[in-house]
Amino acid sequence: MIDFSVEPDFQQKLDWMLDFVKRECEPLDFLFPHHGDPYDTKNAKSRAIIRPLQDEVKRQGLWACHLDTSLGGKGYGQLKLALMNEILGRSYWAPTVFGTAAPDTGNAEILAMFGTEEQKRRYLQPLLEGEIVSTFSMTEPHAGADPREFTCRAWREGNDWVIEGEKWFSSNARYAAFLIVMAVTDPASEAHRRMSMFVVPAETSGIEIIRNVGTIGDSLAGDTGTHAHIRYNKVRVPADAILGGPGMGFQVAQARLGGGRVHHAMRTVGKCQRALEMMIARARSRRTQGKELSEHQFVQGMIADSAIELEMFRLLVLKTAWIIDSQPHGAARTHIAMCKVEMAKVYHDIVRRAIQVHGSYGVTNETPLASMWESLLSLGLADGPTEVHKVQVAKAYLKRVEPYEGVFPPEHIPTRLAETQERYAEILEQPLTLEALG
Ligand SMILES: Cc1cc2nc3c(=O)[nH]c(=O)nc-3n(C[C@H](O)[C@H](O)[C@H](O)COP(=O)(O)OP(=O)(O)OC[C@H]3O[C@@H](n4cnc5c(N)ncnc54)[C@H](O)[C@@H]3O)c2cc1C
Repeated sequence: MIDFSVEPDFQQKLDWMLDFVKRECEPLDFLFPHHGDPYDTKNAKSRAIIRPLQDEVKRQGLWACHLDTSLGGKGYGQLKLALMNEILGRSYWAPTVFGTAAPDTGNAEILAMFGTEEQKRRYLQPLLEGEIVSTFSMTEPHAGADPREFTCRAWREGNDWVIEGEKWFSSNARYAAFLIVMAVTDPASEAHRRMSMFVVPAETSGIEIIRNVGTIGDSLAGDTGTHAHIRYNKVRVPADAILGGPGMGFQVAQARLGGGRVHHAMRTVGKCQRALEMMIARARSRRTQGKELSEHQFVQGMIADSAIELEMFRLLVLKTAWIIDSQPHGAARTHIAMCKVEMAKVYHDIVRRAIQVHGSYGVTNETPLASMWESLLSLGLADGPTEVHKVQVAKAYLKRVEPYEGVFPPEHIPTRLAETQERYAEILEQPLTLEALG
């Protein structure tokens, strides 16, 4: 039996969250608008404002809800998390205020699963408390979508591992207390066993940030970017800095990226909802040719298309979350890839329509649509490009089907008709009447 209702107790929490995010988090997006701001733990002003908010979230039992109980979290599961994350997606600051900001969520999961007791004490606890932030350093300047092309190396020297190479788009490295770095430890090994993952304290000597790369909308002047191009110059870490053991880098990355991708999708639902709300409010409030914008059929079409696409996307995300909660590990892989593809498309289409309905005001920097538009292209790239995920979905479906023999497919109607006629030949060849049937 499929049931779309939400338990009343949990609905109360969601209602509280929605009110709190609108009232307390959305205004922070205007006060501290740079996309690096939520990660800048050294900014005394923003911390002075968010700490009481974080305390309130903790009092409500809604802090860091992405971890399950075995990993020290609340154990809400992905389905409830999906409903929470779609509220948090409305505001850039909300995930930080609720202790669920990426990439720290994924990095916390990795540490909880593969870290030593000392690494958990030193990094996981402060990360979960929101006292520090972290970086996931995997993509390289010459290779992102295909880890088999990675060249950043790590090798053993005595009791240490030594890391040498470059990484690209290591988000928030300028603010991070530690970096999780993927490096090739066994180049001769098969693709999935070549790499390992390391916890590297940010203060380790040899970490050189070549440039903090900005994204669309950022100024080239000044050092304001947040995606670091890093060079690891023979960076030396102790033997136990390796997570999960040599050759486990791919598995560790997968453990992290699956959750991260679906959490992005959940938050994107909330962003789309906000853009749709804005589109509808504008359509109801502006007039042209003697009637409301909402009375023009083109505008109605934009609202209808957006509402339908969002509903379909939301159901996909919720089903994916349900599969993660209820089926064996890895069962949601194809669905996570579907979410990844769809979130970039749906978000783009809805935000574009919302801007269109707002007219010239839509392209100003005076609505949240501006930052939505600037950031939306990243969704089709971060955590792997759309095309790679489409290939994954297609392969999953293709391997369920064997090629048929002969020229015509099993659905060839003349063949199926002949089989059916043969099956019922006795009846079809008799001179039957309804009266004879009784
Ligand atoms: C906002 C943002 C934040 C990021 N944060 C991080 C981070 O914190 N840490 C980190 O390590 N990385 C991060 N990344 C990098 C991200 O993981 C890579 O951008 C992504 O893996 C794609 O790699 P690439 O950019 O090198 O693209 P490329 O590998 O150069 O691919 C370029 C294009 O080629 C096509 N393509 C590639 N492969 C295939 C294929 N198999 N089939 C069909 N077409 C293909 C696609 O159209 C793709 O977009 C971030 C990226 C963004 C945009």
